[in-house]
Amino acid sequence: MNRVTIVGAGFAALTAVQKLRAADPGMEITLVAPRPEFTYLPGTIWIPSGLRQPEDLLISLDNFFQRMKVQYHKGSATGLKDNGRTLLTDNGEITNDGLIICSGGQFIKKLPGIEHTITPCEGIPAAVKIRDRLNQLESGTIAVGFSGNPKEPSAMRGGPMFEFLFGIDRKLRLDGKRDNFRLVFFTPAPSPGNRLGPRAVKGLLNEMKKRDIDTHLGNKIKGFTESKIITEGGEFDAHLILFMPGMTGNKWFDNTDLPRSEGGLIRADKFCRVEGMKGVYVAGDSGSFPGPDWMPKQAHMADLQAAAAAANLVAELNGEAPSETFKVELICIVDSQTTGSLVVRTLKHNIVLPQMRAFHWLKRYFEWWYLRQYR
Ligand SMILES: Cc1cc2nc3c(=O)[nH]c(=O)nc-3n(C[C@H](O)[C@H](O)[C@H](O)COP(=O)(O)OP(=O)(O)OC[C@H]3O[C@@H](n4cnc5c(N)ncnc54)[C@H](O)[C@@H]3O)c2cc1C
Repeated sequence: MNRVTIVGAGFAALTAVQKLRAADPGMEITLVAPRPEFTYLPGTIWIPSGLRQPEDLLISLDNFFQRMKVQYHKGSATGLKDNGRTLLTDNGEITNDGLIICSGGQFIKKLPGIEHTITPCEGIPAAVKIRDRLNQLESGTIAVGFSGNPKEPSAMRGGPMFEFLFGIDRKLRLDGKRDNFRLVFFTPAPSPGNRLGPRAVKGLLNEMKKRDIDTHLGNKIKGFTESKIITEGGEFDAHLILFMPGMTGNKWFDNTDLPRSEGGLIRADKFCRVEGMKGVYVAGDSGSFPGPDWMPKQAHMADLQAAAAAANLVAELNGEAPSETFKVELICIVDSQTTGSLVVRTLKHNIVLPQMRAFHWLKRYFEWWYLRQYR
């Protein structure tokens, strides 16, 4: 019986579980994660407005693990031994015949004063903090921005920051407080959202103009204070700063011989196989994959990569050559609480459809539909 270990309990990990189980009903699957829970991160954009409560987005995996015959190992990966055949965790060692790493990403927190900002994409606690701060504030300036990892163009998360920005604008209007606030969007890139495609940039900037949101674009960020954003193009005051830095690899990768990209992610080939290692695969935000520089760090991409990784690992364990690749596809709805705009980018197409109510409802429906499989 083959024994496979999966690191993580996010999008990529749970898709890998399903694909492995479908391919091999007898396989021994062990999943390592700090908690037996799945966080539906895309829904956290709705926590500040109260449209979602934390418990709506945190799904216990007990039923799913039972259905999929997964052995859950409570703990965090801390390192590797025997060229990947042993995973070290803070709760003991696990040996395997195959390993899929899906432990997500980590944010680069090097800018001076970054502790004065909220990193919205750090999950439910960050979104709750934003909600509470918004409820306390009666007036002032709210600044929302993001930057990337200069050594890894794909390791950034911009889309959700537009959603937090438009969502805050909408909430303040609904609360009757919008006139008391200045909203500022900032990023070192002169064309924010460029990775969604050039048509999206225009749409996003128009949307900001329509909503009376100021911009501070194209200036490298030097740091923050409790009430200031300092850039090479000047500084400005803010009472609440939401800032998403670029992403890099998990800390535990540093204790391993895993090959790393310049940006710190695990280097993989087009089959999601970790370069130079047997039976070791990576999927989702943890990996650096060959492809266009706009390849998104998105749940959808993580799912596509996990499916390829699982199929290829099964092939390898059966003595066959990996052959499954993944499509590079960016699909997202940039939501603004009551409407949303659809952005699709593939190697051939870039489609941007304007803000419509239907897209907001589609995003809500998708969340329900996606989470059904884990309840
Ligand atoms: C606010 C927000 C909105 C988003 N909106 C969208 C959207 O609309 N569409 C979309 O496609 N994507 C969206 N994304 C991006 C998407 O959520 C991520 O790309 C996706 O979660 C990546 O999946 P993953 O499995 O690689 O990592 P994650 O989902 O982050 O999962 C990582 C898992 O690894 C675990 N872990 C971490 N370290 C260790 C360790 N040392 N040992 C064991 N386990 C560990 C974590 O606990 C977690 O379970 C959004 C993200 C955010 C934050």
